[in-house]
Order: sequence, then C-alpha cells, then structure tokens
Amino acid sequence: MSLGNGQLASFWYDNWSPLGHLINHIGPLGPRALRIRSNAVVADAIVNSTWSLPHPRSAQEVELHAHLTTIPLPLHTDIDDTYECVAGDSPGCGFIASTTWEVLRPRDQVKDWVDVVWFKGSVPKHAFTMWTATWDRLPTRERLAAWGMPIATTCPLCARGNETRDHLLLSCEYSLQVWREVFIRCTAPSTMFTTWSELLSWIRAAGSKELKLLRKVATQAFVFHIWKQRNNLVHNQLSIPSSSVFAGLDREVRNIISDKRKRKTFSNLMSLWLR
Ligand SMILES: [Zn+2]
Repeated sequence: MSLGNGQLASFWYDNWSPLGHLINHIGPLGPRALRIRSNAVVADAIVNSTWSLPHPRSAQEVELHAHLTTIPLPLHTDIDDTYECVAGDSPGCGFIASTTWEVLRPRDQVKDWVDVVWFKGSVPKHAFTMWTATWDRLPTRERLAAWGMPIATTCPLCARGNETRDHLLLSCEYSLQVWREVFIRCTAPSTMFTTWSELLSWIRAAGSKELKLLRKVATQAFVFHIWKQRNNLVHNQLSIPSSSVFAGLDREVRNIISDKRKRKTFSNLMSLWLR
C-alpha cells in the first residue's frame, strides 16, 4: 500500500509500512494497546497533524514509532492511497505472472545433467521422458513392486533380469539391439555403459559439438521409444521386434533433424546420422 491521504489504508491490515501488517507485528492485542480500533484507517491514527499513539511499551511498538517519525505530516490530502503489486525486488509495476512465479517457486541447485535433458532443439516429449528417467522416476516394475503392488518384477522386453531403469535402458538385450544401431551413427562407447552417469558421460565426451548434439537427440529418442514400446507391451500386449523400434526411432530422428535443419547447430547432423 502506497500511503497517500491515509483514508483507504487499513491501519492494522494493510501493508503500508516496512513492518508489514501491523496486526502481525504488534500482535492481536495491538488495537487495545494502541487504542486504535481494528477497522481504523491510517488517517484515524492522526489527530491535529500528529500521531495519536500512547507511549510505546514493547520493542515492536518502538519500531513502529521510529517509522512513523519518518512520515511527514500532515499527509497529502490530494493523493489517494493506492495498492501496488510488488513481487521480489521488482518495483510496483502491476501484476506480472512470470515475476510472481519466479518469486514463489521453490528453487534448487542447477543439476549437472541439465544440458543433456533440456537443450535448444530438444523435443518436449522426449526431454520429459529423459528427465523422468534421469531422476529414476519411470514407473518400472521394480519400482511399482517397491510401492507394494503385487506384480512380477521381470523385464517385459527380455524376461531376464528385473525391470529397473538401468536394466531396461542400458543392459536389456532387447534395448541393446537398438543401442547397436544408434552406436553405428553416434560412435559407440569403448565399453557399454552400466550406469546412468556413464551414459551421460558418453554423451558429453563427444569429440565435436555436432556429435554431442546428435547423441543427445538420439539418446532422448531412444529412451522415449524404448519406454513407449515397454508400455505397449505391458498395457496393450503389443510385441514388435527391436528392429521396428529402431525404425520408428530412426524416422523420428530424421524428422527432428530435418525440421530444424535451418538452425546452425542442426545443419550438419543429417550427414552424421545417415549411414
Ligand atoms: Zn530386459
């Protein structure tokens, strides 16, 4: 509340001083202690151009008195009290949803995998699945069973090993057949990754910017398509060979690169991908 003539600003319930709402600063007994009724406006606390308050009897009341001495009296009779929207450090310039969101949202430290999950040109549905997988939050059978669901934890794609994220996406024989095709186009790692961080390291270790971008695009498409096929199998009993999964992935990667070929970063990717 920007104080003008004090005729609108609630003495106790508006934010017209740096002390915030005075009913909170002084406490619920404030109206009685200061002899200012709870529905008073700021102007009601002024009599004959001086603040009409009893001697302060608490540290909070002293703070209030100290602030009041900084307000020139009498108040401007020709200026109305006005409400302003203030979010964080932004000056009052009306309500801005984005600024308000920035102030309200919880912030965490930037993750070291952020460049692999969210990058310019990524496909939102792929990036989202990659993000979920990187947090290890895909509802794999092992995780569902850990939540108490009475289900078998066996991998639906190969029927060997338990369906964890790392099994499904890194070591499952079905997935490995798709990985082999991806590696032909993105250069294979010296040894197959056994952990998620090894996968992320492989993406980052690419010798050129183009290869790194291609690995990001291909890995995200891989994660999306394997997860999609896994769901197809579990929920729709739809079984297709891994070569068909790669065919779908291949088509999609080509479309992604083709769509973005006018961007400098994507312009050389097709020649890398086509083998
Ligand atoms: Zn498997």
